[in-house]
Amino acid sequence: MVKSCAANESEEGSSEQSGPPPEAMFLILAYLPLYELLCMRQVCRSLRDAVNGDILPWLNITVEPPLHSRVSDDILMKMTAMADGRLASLALLNCFKITDDGLLRVIQKNPRINKLYIPGCTGITPEGVIKAVKLLTNSNNHRLKTLKISGIYNVTKEDLQTLCNLLGKTQNHHHHQNPKNLYHKRRDISKIRGEEEDDPSIDIDECPKCGEVRAVFDCPRESCSCRGCIICIRRCEECGVCMVGEEEEQSEAACADDLCLGCWLKLPKCSFCNRPYCHQHSNQQCRLPGYEGFLCVICNDNFVQNSSRLLSIIYMK
Ligand SMILES: [Zn+2]
Ligand SMILES: [Zn+2]
Ligand SMILES: [Zn+2]
Ligand SMILES: [Zn+2]
Ligand SMILES: [Zn+2]
Repeated sequence: MVKSCAANESEEGSSEQSGPPPEAMFLILAYLPLYELLCMRQVCRSLRDAVNGDILPWLNITVEPPLHSRVSDDILMKMTAMADGRLASLALLNCFKITDDGLLRVIQKNPRINKLYIPGCTGITPEGVIKAVKLLTNSNNHRLKTLKISGIYNVTKEDLQTLCNLLGKTQNHHHHQNPKNLYHKRRDISKIRGEEEDDPSIDIDECPKCGEVRAVFDCPRESCSCRGCIICIRRCEECGVCMVGEEEEQSEAACADDLCLGCWLKLPKCSFCNRPYCHQHSNQQCRLPGYEGFLCVICNDNFVQNSSRLLSIIYMK
C-alpha cells in the first residue's frame, strides 16, 4: 500500500473521477498505522475526505518509525487536532523533536487520554511529564491508566514518587509487577488500543540492584525471580531471560544485543562469521544474488574489499 501511495503522490488529482471509496474502506481506516493513514490521504480526494471526515482513526495515535524523526510539536498538534479533543491514547516512540511545550499543548486539548506512551522522547523533561500527568489526573474520575516514559532523562526518585501518587498507584519497587515487565516486550505497543481496565502502571521503577530510576525488568523464567535494570542484569534480546552464567562468546550476535544460547541456536546466521542478528536487526542481513544465506554488515564490507576469497569460502560450504 505504501508503494502505491508513493506512486500516486506525484499525480495527485488525476484519479479524482474514481468515485467514493467502498464502504469496507471506512471499516479498516481505524486499524491502519498512522503512516499508512497519512498515505491514504495522498491517494485521491475521496479517500482524503474519508480519512479527514472520520474521527475513529484519530482517537488512538501512535507515532513510530519511520515517522518518529519527522514529527515536530506543530505536526503533532495538527495530527491530534483530528481527534477533536477526544484522543484516547497517544504513543510517541522516540519522537525526539517533541518538547514539553508540544506535549502540554496536546494534553490540554485532550483531557481523556488513558494511555500516554512517550518512551525515548528525549526532548521532554521530567517536569514536562509531571505537568502533563497533573493535567490528565486533575479530576476524580480521571482516565489515565498507563504511562510509559523510559528513556526520558534525569527522572529522580522524587519525580517517580510524584507520578505514582498522581496515577494513584502504590510504588512497588522490590516487588514483582503484575503483569511482569518483560525486556523483549518493551517495544510491544499492541495493547495500546485495548480497553481493558488494568491497574495503573508506569514503565520505570527504582532498580532494586543499583537504585537508579529506569526501566526495571522481570524474568520470564518461572523459576527465576531476578529483577533489575538492563545495566544490572543482562537479558536476551529475543526472549528476555537473564544471562547469568551464559558465556558471551558462545552466543555472540552480529548486532550489539545479547542472545541466550537457545535463541542463538534458532536464529539464521551470517554465512561467513556464523553470528545471527536478533529479529529487530534482521533487516541488516546483506543478501547475495543467487545465494540463500546472508552476510552480516561487517562481513559484507569485508566482502567488498576481498570478494574473491570470501566467495570461494561461502560457495564451498
Ligand atoms: Zn540497576
Ligand atoms: Zn533468548
Ligand atoms: Zn532471571
Ligand atoms: Zn558475519
Ligand atoms: Zn539486535
